[in-house]
Amino acid sequence: MIKKNFNLIILGPAGSGKGTQAHLLIKEFSMKTIEMGELVRGAAKEKTKQAKLIAWMHDVGMHFSDDFIFNLFEKNVKKLNKKYKLLVDGYPRTAGQAWDLQRILKKYYKNRPSLAIWINVSDKESLKRLLSRALCSKCGKIFPNRKIKKCPDCGGLVKVRGYDKDKKAIQKRLDWFHDHVVPAIEFYKQRKMLVQVNGEQSVEKVFKETLRKINRYQYTNAY
Ligand SMILES: [Zn+2]
Repeated sequence: MIKKNFNLIILGPAGSGKGTQAHLLIKEFSMKTIEMGELVRGAAKEKTKQAKLIAWMHDVGMHFSDDFIFNLFEKNVKKLNKKYKLLVDGYPRTAGQAWDLQRILKKYYKNRPSLAIWINVSDKESLKRLLSRALCSKCGKIFPNRKIKKCPDCGGLVKVRGYDKDKKAIQKRLDWFHDHVVPAIEFYKQRKMLVQVNGEQSVEKVFKETLRKINRYQYTNAY
């Protein structure tokens, strides 16, 4: 097993199942996590003027400025116990944010290495998965079909988000992924901090491949 301390950054398009993989990794390595979507949903619920705007932007799938995301992330990473490994989900979403994240992690985790995991899924598969999914408006849980109306976990209303509404809306997000997130992935690739996993397999197989590649990475790279 891995003895070395490290942080993980999980990357993948909408519908790649990266949230599920993130939860499995957190359990496997007893990690702390920062999920940007959750932080944004939290910020949208605060009793401030800004919150309403954040809620609206989030619902229609608009993108937040790098500064807004940076500050939100830093505010939360400050509070974490640094003896635990950290898993970052939903950040970075641009190459600029990858630089930002690298800077914050260095500040708070000193020389601890980070490894980015790319759950790779084709547009075709993402589209297929997203067209049938719905989300709990309260806790953010994802459901693989659109028949459930009430979340069994928290009782919240299960809705199809504006950004999952139809093919056009989804394609717009996938285009964002190619134009902006892929350059962030390149950032890690160039620094030899990236492992790529085939996301078009069962949850168990994706997880196994991820673990195998994390293990292999630990022993073949000096960061
Ligand atoms: Zn819920």
